Amino acid sequence: MAKPIIVQKFGGSSVANIDRIKVVAQRILESKTKRNNIVVVVSALGDTTDDLVDLAAKISEHPPEREMDMLMSTGEQISSALVAMAIQELGHDAISFTGAQVGILTDDIHTKAKIQNISARSIRKALKENKIVIVAGFQGVTKNNEITTLGRGGSDLTAVALAMALKAQVCEIFTDVEGIYTTDPRIVREAQKIKEITFDEMLEMASLGAQVMQPRSIEVARRFNIPLHVRSSFSKEEGTMIVKNTQKLEDLAVSGITCNKAEAKITICGVQDKPGVAAEIFTQISKAGVSVDTIVQNVSHTRQTDISFTVLKTDLTKAIKASQSIAEKLKAGDVLHDKNVARISIVGSGMRSHRGVAAKMFQTLAENEVNIEMITTSDISVSCIIDQSQAERAVKALHKAFSLEG
Ligand code: ADP
Ligand code: ASP
Ligand code: MG
Repeated sequence: MAKPIIVQKFGGSSVANIDRIKVVAQRILESKTKRNNIVVVVSALGDTTDDLVDLAAKISEHPPEREMDMLMSTGEQISSALVAMAIQELGHDAISFTGAQVGILTDDIHTKAKIQNISARSIRKALKENKIVIVAGFQGVTKNNEITTLGRGGSDLTAVALAMALKAQVCEIFTDVEGIYTTDPRIVREAQKIKEITFDEMLEMASLGAQVMQPRSIEVARRFNIPLHVRSSFSKEEGTMIVKNTQKLEDLAVSGITCNKAEAKITICGVQDKPGVAAEIFTQISKAGVSVDTIVQNVSHTRQTDISFTVLKTDLTKAIKASQSIAEKLKAGDVLHDKNVARISIVGSGMRSHRGVAAKMFQTLAENEVNIEMITTSDISVSCIIDQSQAERAVKALHKAFSLEG
């Protein structure tokens, strides 16, 4: 019978420098026994990907996405080779591979490619030779041999997809915190480590801005029911299990709070209040390649209204341009924008059965003199768009109000 496979992913901070890479190599060897096989996925060293993006920005405002993928994918190639060397130095055989070499086949949407198939043939062959396999995260290849990347944070997705393809026993995500916390422990010192969280809750938290896991990786883990163990690469403590169902008897109304500063708000003033206007606006925005999140249309007492919506800050220039052209066409008023907003969200499966959760959120924000600019809800979350300067205060107040301090 084939030996059980463990997939381990080490994020950028875990391999930020040579000393850490040596610690990671040691850690990998501690997990390796005669009876198992280890496949490791690594991110680029520290802030390498951001640095590469900055380099490109010095040459072009809109660098070609194909070339961005050529550039960004080099980061993980460096770290995977260095980790393989560090393991060999400790006396165990190891081999590094790029995404293309392990057959991570993707579509051709550069910078946010989707995985279509994983052959993993080279991995299986190397494991049979008792090698520890190190795979460069975040990257794949198209059927035409073009290198692609899987969206920021994409090494998480590489790890989960490999765990699925290799039928791994467990997928461990090693990072710089001890697991998933009730909120970002860098914002709230009192944040508590969560022992177990469901895929649904984690997907909601990740989509609403908890940076710790890439949302797409959680979608794949949920679809194929791959339990994930998020833990620290600096300690031996057990971390957080992300699973289908938790052992809890009853769900908490709120199990986590997130803060996302990646969005900006656009308002198109003075649009006519008549059928078809919203359809026209959002069709044009979508044609410009911009995804829209929260939308609010003010109640109109005259025949005119203002429509506000949020977009990713990285799409703001495109979104303003498209909004101005549509405002002109519709004979609407000014197009305003605000980059200084933050999305604060409360997340919890228990919201389905608890009443008054949203009201308590609004009350807490009011008591802390935080003005709510927009609101959206899902069945397990409530989000408010507020002024960015009040974001940290709001998160701390909500964390306390929903008794998440332990
Ligand atoms: P890696 O480099 O390992 O991929 P990331 O920087 O992508 O790590 O994610 C880890 C960071 O996510 C932590 O340092 C933490 O500040 C942040 N984070 C945000 N929300 C949470 C949360 N609810 N629980 C844990 N970490 C969180
Ligand atoms: N290095 C890539 C990024 O910074 C992928 C990852 O770390 O997961 O987005
Ligand atoms: Mg990450």
